[in-house]
Amino acid sequence: MRKHKIVIIGSGPAGYTAAIYAARANLGPLLFEGFYSGPAGGQLMTTTDVENYPGFPDGVTGPEMMDLFRLQSDRLGTTIITEDVTSVNLKIYPFIVEAKSGSVEAEAIIISTGATAKRLEIPGCGDKEFWQKGVTACAVCDGAMPIFRDKPLYVIGGGDTAMEEALFLTKFGSKVFIVHRRDEFRASKIMGDRAIHHPKIEVLWSHVVTKVEGDQVVRSVTVKDLKSGTETKRDAAGVFFAIGHEPNTSFLGSQIEFAQHGYIKVVPGTSRTSVEGVFAAGDVQDPFYRQAVTAAGSGCMAALDAERWLAAREHAHA
Ligand code: NDP
Repeated sequence: MRKHKIVIIGSGPAGYTAAIYAARANLGPLLFEGFYSGPAGGQLMTTTDVENYPGFPDGVTGPEMMDLFRLQSDRLGTTIITEDVTSVNLKIYPFIVEAKSGSVEAEAIIISTGATAKRLEIPGCGDKEFWQKGVTACAVCDGAMPIFRDKPLYVIGGGDTAMEEALFLTKFGSKVFIVHRRDEFRASKIMGDRAIHHPKIEVLWSHVVTKVEGDQVVRSVTVKDLKSGTETKRDAAGVFFAIGHEPNTSFLGSQIEFAQHGYIKVVPGTSRTSVEGVFAAGDVQDPFYRQAVTAAGSGCMAALDAERWLAAREHAHA
């Protein structure tokens, strides 16, 4: 079995950035970029224009940006494997990382498998329907698109993410409706109050969206009042799922400590997990910021943490 100093599990801004730093530190990283679990490059592969990543004054598409990240990590000497990791063994050292094509040993592991935004199976919201044509799961990524300007927008959810997304969208939409299935928010009081009192936001309590329709892009939603059972069709240009994210950690089992909502627990201000020699970067450990630039930053932190940990270990065993 081949032994590697650093194995990076997951691509996207965090994984590729970790690889760039680890490669530049001569650690010869091996990166599993994923295959069946979702597109290599992570959530950015399903977004369109990225206008908030510094260094791209004219914007860049998510897939284009991930191609560049990948190219850079590859050029600096990362070995990239287009496969999913199926399991890891963190109870022995060196750690074992298993993929379909075989297993490798790792002296240090960086986990950057990201999170998947939860979606609802509402008619009209599928990949071949209006997904990314007005239906999205990230207001901060997509909200500034011209199709949403001065149009009614619908945010589904009642947590902090829904409040944050609705408040953000007030900059673009003519009006923002929060559609929440209950008659009280799960969000913190301060965030909920901010949304409720915003002049451009209206909350549809105890409502769900039952259908999304349009032509090339979204033109309407049908909402159902769960108390009266009445369904109403309304003009809409955007539907934003804000019903939570699912960190991609199933391959880890219970070998590592998790924080709330299944995110990997890290020592604050570092990428260190509960297992020495295992580091986490990007959305898999971050329920708050979830931006390409913060993921990239945390990928850099993980590579530096891993490099220093390996050096200290080598020194101790010399
Ligand atoms: P949450 O799990 O807190 O909220 C998800 C919301 O989506 C809930 O209101 C839930 O409804 C609703 N929902 C879930 N499933 C469905 C469904 N099938 N149909 C309709 N509605 C559904 O997720 P968030 O992403 O909002 O937040 C995750 C964590 O991140 C939280 O701890 C939050 O505090 C934190 N966060 C903090 C922020 C900040 O402080 N700035 C910003 C964003 C997130 P119901 O309430 O009925 O269960």
